[in-house]
Amino acid sequence: MSLVVQKYGGSSVADAPAIRRVARRIVAYRDAGQEVVVVVSAMGDTTDELIDLAAQVSPSPPGRELDMLLTAGERISMALLAMAITDSGHEARSFTGSQAGMITDASHGRARIIDVTPGRIRDALDAGAVAIVAGFQGVSQTTKDITTLGRGGSDTTAVALAAALGADVCEIYTDVDGVFTADPRVVPLAHRIAQISHEEMLEMAASGAKVLHLRAVEYARRYNVSLHVRSSFSDRLGTLIAQGGAVFPIGPGEFRTSTSEEEPMEQPLIAGVAHDSSQGKITLIGVPDVPGKAAAVFKIVAQTDANIDMIVQNVSTEITGRTDISFTLPTDDAPRVRHAIESARDELGYLSLEYSDRIGKLSLIGAGMRSHPGVSAGLFAALSDAGVNIEMISTSEIRLSVVTEREDLERAVRAAHTAFGLDSAEGEAVVYGGTGR
Ligand code: ADP
Ligand code: ASP
Ligand code: MG
Repeated sequence: MSLVVQKYGGSSVADAPAIRRVARRIVAYRDAGQEVVVVVSAMGDTTDELIDLAAQVSPSPPGRELDMLLTAGERISMALLAMAITDSGHEARSFTGSQAGMITDASHGRARIIDVTPGRIRDALDAGAVAIVAGFQGVSQTTKDITTLGRGGSDTTAVALAAALGADVCEIYTDVDGVFTADPRVVPLAHRIAQISHEEMLEMAASGAKVLHLRAVEYARRYNVSLHVRSSFSDRLGTLIAQGGAVFPIGPGEFRTSTSEEEPMEQPLIAGVAHDSSQGKITLIGVPDVPGKAAAVFKIVAQTDANIDMIVQNVSTEITGRTDISFTLPTDDAPRVRHAIESARDELGYLSLEYSDRIGKLSLIGAGMRSHPGVSAGLFAALSDAGVNIEMISTSEIRLSVVTEREDLERAVRAAHTAFGLDSAEGEAVVYGGTGR
């Protein structure tokens, strides 16, 4: 008997008809004799609405209480889905993250999974039931408090459960037909990628393609879980992220074998263009240009546990012996980091701190870049033709990122997508639902 873990995102369970539609899909798998574990997100934009509500009662709610509040969103959808499945004559049992054995550390809002003990899920399956688990939540091993894994973390819940249960595939159901060469909401001519390597998907996710949570891809690679990203609104095949030769279910009673990652199928130079408009930029002006200053700055930043991406240090002027250091970070982390740096101003000796959240980051991702010089020249030319100014640049083996003004970002993404020949000839990508929030 095959075991499938299915994760349904918020847009797939946005209202009662959507929940009944998802229940029918699950029941079809059960009827074909497959075991099904379902991970659900909160309905529609519930999580955002709960965060807005919290902000109305407190400008800085305690992490423990915010997590308690947010996990309620997933509890609503899991219970409703269990009811809809039961209504169709099948048994279903819903479980909170804690009941499902998702054990995490104690960092509220960005907890890491340290163990998965899905005994109750296995028991439910053995009893012939569909097990439904609330996404993106767990319980701290030390404090016993309820935690959340961070925005978009239900993908990671699903992959962690799939690994712990030895599932044949982890299906991620969302509101587009898979992973595309760019966000279809921004580039209507983006095309679906049939299969993508783990390393390229990791870079896409790290660069802002929110279709998959970064940690879900890391987890899938480490524990060798086959991922299938697809739409809950169609029956089309989506995008596969799997080791070559893996056999996995693609529908009720239907199976497919993945092709090898090394196989020279159509290995395009660029796999995709990702964009991120949730980053800000901190600039420290007039940092004394002496050994150890950059180390001191980034030691303080590291203690805030913020994810820094691009760093640029200007050449210092000889007269002043001072330099400017800029770096990008998620806007959510910015208040924490600014506070830490401002508190250490005397020690660091910089003159002033500037912050901008009006920036956007565009990244080109492709394993083919390794063997093809000239990608940067091609991107800079495309952006210049589109009248987009570049503020910062960083490169890695398979990624090239630039920072632009926020208002130029979407135009820049479309220009890069066209310039690298990624536009689809078959017409526009379908976005089935969701608000893109
Ligand atoms: P869910 O609620 O199902 O988890 P998300 O909103 O987290 O859905 O992720 C799906 C969205 O990711 C899509 O609607 C799309 O706008 C966005 N997205 C960004 N980049 C990509 C990409 N390269 N391919 C597909 N979707 C993308
Ligand atoms: N509901 C949570 C969020 O909106 C978790 C998830 O959907 O993955 O971030
Ligand atoms: Mg998501």
